[in-house]
Amino acid sequence: MTTRGEKFYEGKAKILYATEDPALVVQYFKDDATAFNAQKRGTIVDKGVVNNRISTALFTYLEGKGVKTHFVRQLDDRSMLVKRLTIVPLEVTIRNITAGGMAKLLGIEEGLVLNPPVFEWHYKSDALGDPLINDDHILAMKWATAQELAHIRSESFTVNDALKAFFNQRQIDLVDFKLEFGRAGSAHQLLLGDEISPDTMRLWEHGTRRKLDKDRFRRDLGSVEEAYQEVLRRVIGEAGQPSAARR
Ligand code: 5GP
Repeated sequence: MTTRGEKFYEGKAKILYATEDPALVVQYFKDDATAFNAQKRGTIVDKGVVNNRISTALFTYLEGKGVKTHFVRQLDDRSMLVKRLTIVPLEVTIRNITAGGMAKLLGIEEGLVLNPPVFEWHYKSDALGDPLINDDHILAMKWATAQELAHIRSESFTVNDALKAFFNQRQIDLVDFKLEFGRAGSAHQLLLGDEISPDTMRLWEHGTRRKLDKDRFRRDLGSVEEAYQEVLRRVIGEAGQPSAARR
């Protein structure tokens, strides 16, 4: 039995609650959506339910591929039990296709295939808009050790390979995604944290390039709920079958 205790953190999309076990917390998914550093705010109906289910499925899949994550188990529609982490103040982005921040940064078009994929570190700071940084910034600021950086980088590429294959089987191109890592327990074991959902990944339908992610909200493209539901259907369906059935 896990009892949801005191709320100790509320972010833009999720709330964290304590449990009777100090090593475990409840991660609750809200419907709130923000973009452009919270300048744009809104609600995506049932996003919390969908993202909880997608994250549950993807954390479970990644654990099967040997990636160590904070995920313990799904608790209910909107919450999962996770290991308590001290979050490393970094966001990792891996890009397989140009879009968003990289297209803007370099003044290039979206949709160019990146081979090899591009790995980026961002400093996790809402006030600064999560700026792009390199290893030297991290080491000089002592946000993580060289050993931790090497570990996070290699885990992130394992995640990219695994998720690319997973979505490829579901007729979806994994354009890019963001990961966060944290340290668990007295051994400071590095674990993949946060969530993995259409809020944190760009997903394009293979062939049509229809956007199936938060860009529909960011760019006012409409059919936001439908896109999230579509990803959920493809994630929980048998590989290849959901899209094949509709063609
Ligand atoms: P970009 O740097 O192009 O804005 O984002 C790259 C990828 O990481 C996208 O899939 C985007 O959804 C995700 N991402 C980057 N930063 C954040 C963030 O602060 N919050 C969320 N939800 N996703 C982010």
